[in-house]
Amino acid sequence: MNLLTASRMKSFRSCARQHYYAFVLGRRPIAESAALSFGTAVHAALEAWWSTGPAGALALAMQHLPEGMDPFVRARAEAMLIGYDVAWRDRGFEALAIEKQFTLPLINPDTGARSRTWELAGKVDVIARGPDGRVWVIEHKTSSEDIGAGGAYRARLTLDGQVSQYIEGANALGYAVAGVIYDVLRKPTIDPLKATPEESRKYKKDGSLYASQRDRDESPEEYRDRCIESLGANPDRHFAQIEVVRLEADRDEYAFDVWQLGELMRESERTGRAPRNGDACFRYAGSPCPYLAVCQGRDSINNPYAFRTVGASPELAPTKAA
Ligand code: SF4
Repeated sequence: MNLLTASRMKSFRSCARQHYYAFVLGRRPIAESAALSFGTAVHAALEAWWSTGPAGALALAMQHLPEGMDPFVRARAEAMLIGYDVAWRDRGFEALAIEKQFTLPLINPDTGARSRTWELAGKVDVIARGPDGRVWVIEHKTSSEDIGAGGAYRARLTLDGQVSQYIEGANALGYAVAGVIYDVLRKPTIDPLKATPEESRKYKKDGSLYASQRDRDESPEEYRDRCIESLGANPDRHFAQIEVVRLEADRDEYAFDVWQLGELMRESERTGRAPRNGDACFRYAGSPCPYLAVCQGRDSINNPYAFRTVGASPELAPTKAA
């Protein structure tokens, strides 16, 4: 059975050709984007945070930031973890499962028949019980977007297929969840300060520089402290726990969405046709799609220095055949 994950469907919706390279051929870029590797590092630290009680959680999370990170990137990540710890430690949630993988049949909503091609799959970050006894899927995200009330980020969640899939997945694992808490960490928007170029420096009568000018680069420790200050001044803009629930009508819509998408993907594989979508090439914060050079004919998907074969869903452990 092919595993139909939320990220696989997202890729196909965005661009069928991208889905073909990443999920059918299983070829992924060797060099990760900076945003992706930052998100992966914070994600690993949050997994550690949830694996223990609140008392030692922050120290453990810090230890799980990878070795060899750029010191300024690490400083930003540490500041975010400190803010995260403040946001969560007294909320009284108890983790029931961490990084739990699920699979469940894909069902044709018209006939009730089970797909012979696809199985829905995914891995939930955390399943936790809140102080009122309700159980939630908790899904960590790092973002540069505005995550405040009334913004596009929150509006998108009402239709987000991943939310629906994770609710169904948690239910299949035996947890009757109330919904998903989208646990969003917005990155600090400040950059490390650089020394003012010597030719631009202006000095006061006492020989000191004007306040907006610097005679040296900011250190990682100073940058970290400034990030902590910035996050602490506006915690609601940087840490959001957004509760998303699904009503029966939403679940019906989702059932048709995934079935139809599975059919389109099967048809694409059957015909060997995966149309390009030029509108998606620069969709992610202006960064080019990692396959742009291949689509433009400047590189080959078989270039071993640019791409490696990882399979369709490297984040999931192999499942037994149904
Ligand atoms: S470069 Fe554009 S057309 Fe090519 S796979 Fe990426 S998004 Fe699709």
